[in-house]
Amino acid sequence: MNIALIAHDKKKPEIITFTTAYQNILEKHQLFATGTTGKKIADATGLSIIRFQSGPLGGDQQIGSKIADDQMDMVIFFRDPLTAQPHEPDITALLRLCDVHQIPVATNLAGAEIMIRALDRGDFNWRKVAKDERNQVE
Ligand code: PGA
Repeated sequence: MNIALIAHDKKKPEIITFTTAYQNILEKHQLFATGTTGKKIADATGLSIIRFQSGPLGGDQQIGSKIADDQMDMVIFFRDPLTAQPHEPDITALLRLCDVHQIPVATNLAGAEIMIRALDRGDFNWRKVAKDERNQVE
């Protein structure tokens, strides 16, 4: 599965804790992240991560573009609900695309933990089946 990881600045310690705790699951998947989030996770865990631009410079939109192209299976986005973000429109657009394309998305640690355990249990294998079917039709 292709998994996008994003965390606003005040949530970066939380996503490092999360990715460290679930490293054994995450390392079985292809990981993507916005620039600073990806660097901090890679430095802390050694996980291999494809990094996009920093969020405020377009990273959220790059992840959105992957979703539109059917190349992202899950988004874990630790949002900071208490701080105004300069790229709020990009964040809204990314979450909108998750809804448009039925991409599983968690916006906080509690949801992300449920999602990552479900991923490991195979609950998201339907995404691969659905993708294979779409590829056959095309
Ligand atoms: P960053 O971007 O990982 O580059 O900090 C995240 C964001 O603010 O959307």
